[in-house]
Amino acid sequence: MSQNRRILVNPLCALALGLLLAGPVAADTVTVYSARNEQLIKPLFDAFTQETGTQIQVLTDKEGPLLERLKAEGAKTSADVLITVDAGNLWQASQMGLLRSIKSPVLSANIPANLRDPRGEWYGLSVRARTIIYNKKTVNPASLSTYEALAGPEWKGKLCLRTSKKVYNQSLVATMIATQGEKQTEQIVRGWVANLATDVFPDDNGVIKAVAAGQCEVGIVNTYYLARQLDKDPNMPVGLFWANQKSRGVHVNVSGAGVTRYAPNPAGGQKLIEWLSAGKAQEIYTDKDFEYPANPQVKADSIIRQWGSFKMDLINVSKAGELQAAATKLMDRAGYR
Ligand code: FE
Repeated sequence: MSQNRRILVNPLCALALGLLLAGPVAADTVTVYSARNEQLIKPLFDAFTQETGTQIQVLTDKEGPLLERLKAEGAKTSADVLITVDAGNLWQASQMGLLRSIKSPVLSANIPANLRDPRGEWYGLSVRARTIIYNKKTVNPASLSTYEALAGPEWKGKLCLRTSKKVYNQSLVATMIATQGEKQTEQIVRGWVANLATDVFPDDNGVIKAVAAGQCEVGIVNTYYLARQLDKDPNMPVGLFWANQKSRGVHVNVSGAGVTRYAPNPAGGQKLIEWLSAGKAQEIYTDKDFEYPANPQVKADSIIRQWGSFKMDLINVSKAGELQAAATKLMDRAGYR
């Protein structure tokens, strides 16, 4: 290192060291535990830091280990904010006592009531719709209606599903239990299993590819997976159908965030979540990841706008968490692997 450069760099090093030693308790640093992939989270955090000057330290892991870590760290945690997908996971964090309730006029204005925890422990930041897809060459969309109808005998050997081990399907079935009870839901799930064209898939992408290839005619997936594949191959013969539009609406879930119970910088954590609920951040969620903005004032990306608007199930997404265990047991009984 040259003499000149050392003179320039040293004060900055000292400053950086100071920040490091002060750690996450420094007022201008927010520490985030994130179960969302870095590709999405990084542009969000970079934009936040640029706009506010607040630094973000982030630890990325799967939701299970992150929740365990938060629990083990207890009051000694350096995490201010937990970010994860699915209301089922957020509900779990809340049940484990890992989050604190926050009251924020900004969040109340930006995030619709069905997309946040009634006690204010977590807030949905993006909406993920789970609906029916079909092979455009073999299926007339007029023959589609509801998730429940896919259990009918006319779909025998034509349905592809992702594994029931994924929380997305647990949440879908949980909200079905909430609206029509266990008995009826179990009958439907048994019907789905009887209609499977092939073994369940480990992910939504597998379902989409199988529908595109004609291995099956219909499936149920989160729309952002289809948008990502159409972004790469616009000619893929897979159509999207909004389920249950004449009844309760399409099943939606969220990705979201909450301030941790023992946050060293709760005000900073709240500021970050408020920032994520509006403007540029909401645009990044939809433009980079093809999810729907949770804030209804923000326009969805053009690829997903082609599917038009849809009626969403307005049941509070926290129900998905409450009934998750019942849903898992029900799917097990019904032979949905
Ligand atoms: Fe996903």
